[in-house]
Amino acid sequence: MDIWDVAIIGGGGAGLTAGLYASRANLKTCLFEKISTGGQIALTDDVENYPGFPEGVTGPEVAQKMEEQAKKYGTEIITEEIMALQEKDGKFVLKTAGKEYFSHTIILASGASPRKVGVSGERELTGKGVSYCATCDGAFFRNKQIIVVGGGDSALQEGLFLTRFATKVYIVHRRDKLRGSAILQERAFKNQKIEFIWDTVIDSMHGSNKLEFVKLRNVKKNQVRDFNIDGVFVFVGHDPETKYIGDFVKLDEKGYVIADAVSFETSRKGVFAAGEVRTGAVKQLVTACGEGCAAALQAQHYLETLETD
Ligand SMILES: Cc1cc2nc3c(=O)[nH]c(=O)nc-3n(C[C@H](O)[C@H](O)[C@H](O)COP(=O)(O)OP(=O)(O)OC[C@H]3O[C@@H](n4cnc5c(N)ncnc54)[C@H](O)[C@@H]3O)c2cc1C
Repeated sequence: MDIWDVAIIGGGGAGLTAGLYASRANLKTCLFEKISTGGQIALTDDVENYPGFPEGVTGPEVAQKMEEQAKKYGTEIITEEIMALQEKDGKFVLKTAGKEYFSHTIILASGASPRKVGVSGERELTGKGVSYCATCDGAFFRNKQIIVVGGGDSALQEGLFLTRFATKVYIVHRRDKLRGSAILQERAFKNQKIEFIWDTVIDSMHGSNKLEFVKLRNVKKNQVRDFNIDGVFVFVGHDPETKYIGDFVKLDEKGYVIADAVSFETSRKGVFAAGEVRTGAVKQLVTACGEGCAAALQAQHYLETLETD
């Protein structure tokens, strides 16, 4: 039976850094990624706060370099989705659709995925005007008018990026104040193409084959109006990617993995969690990478204790 020392679930910043450290420590390391490596950072065009890149770097570029570096030291990337986890005869079993893999330790680094607005028409119109990724879809909206939903850093950053293509970007926010950082707020307020629609939510999305209009509701006045628009980009937070975990380790009430912020240990010995999947994590690339490094070092110490037992 082929047994890995470290099996990492998730190929975002946390997982790839865990891979780099584990494989560089000569541990037999594999990383499972269900879509493509990079995770959320690959969805943005502009990363200005990752140290070492004073001019900024694109998300896909930094993701690709992280993958290259992890592979260089031996991390094996397996493009499969982990569906379930089990512990059997002192080993961990990682189940995909058609296979089982075995490992002495696991690092959970499956991150989070963009939350939907949750209104009628959204699912049917995704990819037909509704998007969760400005880098992927922004160029389809050249000379068009779009709505960005949200009021945090991602909404502002991606809204600013989308002004490169769209003639107008309406930022629809359910409150009358933004949550985003001061520097992004300042840039957004100065940008002539951006207009804010405050105290407003989208009630429904409409269109036969592509998005045509949305119903906007002012939450203070409770007034609804039709609003013609070519695209809607949604940046309203994230939900943890932890369905496959079940009750294998303890999760918090929102579904994030409970793990110690120093040892990165979960409720099950030999299983660690790093990055956005962990409850209380700072949702940044640099911290995801830092946690990936720390979790890999902890996995290494844990493996040493197994050898001496
Ligand atoms: C639009 C946008 C812009 C951002 N801009 C910045 C920025 O400028 N600066 C910054 O520091 N941060 C930014 N962030 C946040 C940053 O991207 C995240 O904090 C970071 O990517 C978290 O990394 P992670 O590895 O923990 O998780 P993720 O990036 O979420 O990666 C998790 C990976 O696990 C995979 N996965 C999930 N479940 C499974 C499974 N069952 N089996 C196999 N694979 C699985 C997913 O496909 C994904 O690739 C941005 C995020 C977004 C969405």
